[in-house]
Amino acid sequence: MADQHHHRHGEPESEMTLRVRAIEQLLAEKGLVDPTAIDRLVELYETRVGPHNGARVVARAWSDPAYKARLLENGTEAIAELGISGLQGENMVVVENTQAIHNVVVCTLCSCYPWPVLGLPPVWYKSPPYRSRVVREPRAVLAEFGMAVPAEQEVRVWDSSAEIRYMVLPQRPAEGEGLDEEALAALVTRDGMIGTAPV
Ligand code: FE
Repeated sequence: MADQHHHRHGEPESEMTLRVRAIEQLLAEKGLVDPTAIDRLVELYETRVGPHNGARVVARAWSDPAYKARLLENGTEAIAELGISGLQGENMVVVENTQAIHNVVVCTLCSCYPWPVLGLPPVWYKSPPYRSRVVREPRAVLAEFGMAVPAEQEVRVWDSSAEIRYMVLPQRPAEGEGLDEEALAALVTRDGMIGTAPV
């Protein structure tokens, strides 16, 4: 597999990776799994599944207060309403940015990330410096992303794990006023849904 997301926290990643590889090889040898099918699955997440899915969720939440309430109440179910679900998105929690609170997501132990809404994680998300520093000095890290968080705005850091995957609901920007959902979705970026960009 292209990535190492099949471990649970607390278990050595290398051992799990070896197991996955061994099982994959065994299944292929027994003719139970076509290795090209695995390649296609990886390709699916690298190309067709991506942040445009999450952007649809955000645009709907910005347009429909009842949907937004459902999204914050039960992320997994509300996201599934839009036909988005699957691997690494089985337990989604959506956290809302407000004037008072800015949220940012990390996986401190590895690279847990909500695939169905954001696709595969960017390289920096998996990098040890991001994972350790965003917890210790989130404002400094966000500043390096070009985001100055006002002192009066609280920064909350959410640690994704094998059990829970977080996604940020950014604040709707002023230029979103009067736009339809499709146009709103075009304003939303991947980093906005991780919390390292305003939108
Ligand atoms: Fe992880």
